[in-house]
Amino acid sequence: MRINDILKKKRTFSFEVFPPNPENSNIQDIYNTLDALQQFRPDFISVTFKASGDFSQNTIDLACYIQHHIAAEPLVHLTCGALDEHDVDALAAKMQTEGLENVLALRGDKPANFEGDYLKHFKHSTELMDHLRQQYDFCLAGACYPEGHIESESIREDIATLKLKQDMGAQFLITQLFYDNNFYYRLVRVARQMGITIPIIPGIMPLTSAVMFNKIKNMAGATIPFELRVLIDRFRDDKQAMYEIGISYAVHQILDLLANGADGIHIYTMNNARVAEEIYRRIQNVIEKELR
Ligand code: FAD
Repeated sequence: MRINDILKKKRTFSFEVFPPNPENSNIQDIYNTLDALQQFRPDFISVTFKASGDFSQNTIDLACYIQHHIAAEPLVHLTCGALDEHDVDALAAKMQTEGLENVLALRGDKPANFEGDYLKHFKHSTELMDHLRQQYDFCLAGACYPEGHIESESIREDIATLKLKQDMGAQFLITQLFYDNNFYYRLVRVARQMGITIPIIPGIMPLTSAVMFNKIKNMAGATIPFELRVLIDRFRDDKQAMYEIGISYAVHQILDLLANGADGIHIYTMNNARVAEEIYRRIQNVIEKELR
């Protein structure tokens, strides 16, 4: 089923997973994670794609597993920075053959060890969307950034490219992680003013460890609100306390987002079904009432 058809009827509840590196992890673990995630009845599960284009088959394999064994729609991430038209067409053909209907079209960032020209063929996700829209019949989605994409001069300039994503066929957007809901509300407000009508689904990454905090600081540059910052500074060496803080803060964010009419909730699980379970159990009745 196409995710945009689900979004026409209701707000969605969804998860993100990534294909584990086969060299240092047990591949069976991710299948166990997907089996465990199924009990929370997500509408869709998205599967990330390596920006280098390597191991793309792992993304397709996981999406196929979801398609055939899990009661949720797969959403295949596809980054185009390292690909040319031929690569994209080969992947699109595979997706079509497998009946995979939903694609999150992305640019990706040049990996540190990438040899060769990045962004040689597709410079932006909008070009990938345009290609997919003209050649295939997928339900397309795009990424968006509550605090603005790092390469954009201003939030308005960034949101103007979201309008382009909509014009190029994106039928919904998923946000980058954020910890201050005001950034999401501003994004939605400005996007609506600028003619973006498609659903904008907030992505929530529970910050459950000090290691994760450091990673996020370096990677996504998300603003950490003062109240959360104080807790992290105080409890960063206490694993259990950090876990409790991360889950509680995510629950607090989700409740606020639901109360304020967000188009859905997308949880970055980091392949940890326990995190999704903790969140679900704490607000099960709210999720059942608001997202079904
Ligand atoms: P783009 O949409 O191309 O945007 C990049 C910059 O270019 C922005 O500043 C934008 O405003 C600007 N821009 C866009 N289109 C145009 C245009 N036509 N003309 C001029 N400027 C333009 N990375 C991975 O490697 N694998 C993943 O699976 C993955 N999943 C993600 C999922 C989500 C929900 C999000 C939010 C990000 C994900 N990323 C993933 C990270 C993403 O690849 C990076 O954030 C990357 O820097 C930008 O990707 P994009 O698709 O937003 O790029």
